[in-house]
Amino acid sequence: MEWLERFASSPAAERIRSAADPQREIPFRIRLGSGSIMVGTIDVLWREGDRIFIRDYKIGRTDGAPRLLYDLQVVFYALAARKHFGDVPYDLALISLKDSNEIGIDISDISWSGIENDIISAANEAGSGSFRPNLEMCPSCPWRRSCHFSQTAGPPDAGD
Ligand code: SF4
Repeated sequence: MEWLERFASSPAAERIRSAADPQREIPFRIRLGSGSIMVGTIDVLWREGDRIFIRDYKIGRTDGAPRLLYDLQVVFYALAARKHFGDVPYDLALISLKDSNEIGIDISDISWSGIENDIISAANEAGSGSFRPNLEMCPSCPWRRSCHFSQTAGPPDAGD
């Protein structure tokens, strides 16, 4: 695959290669304040000084509606990392493999407690059966094929 070879020689790939001890495909399972469990897998994580770097690979498009979902996905990973590493600086980005591009995620104004509360609320709603999906997002949602709520047919636009 040409795009994979291009990515391998990109600055984004070189940055990961030159990190002291990059960890790949890290599964996590963390308990949120409510007792809910959040699980996932972080594509790449490494540490430079006290700063934690988290990267998430994307195969498909990164613009439009999926971008918002993708950004949140990485923010959730950072929330999980904070449970382990604590309140240190975090550097988050998506990596678009097809164009070898690193897309930073601005978390300068983020409220970690607000994010955690949002996840807890969504989990509680889903668990109680009253979850109301935002169907406007479904047509461009990369997870729509496996989502119980989606009414949009067709293959996903992108990998996760
Ligand atoms: S497909 Fe499912 S996960 Fe995706 S936006 Fe729609 S309801 Fe949410």
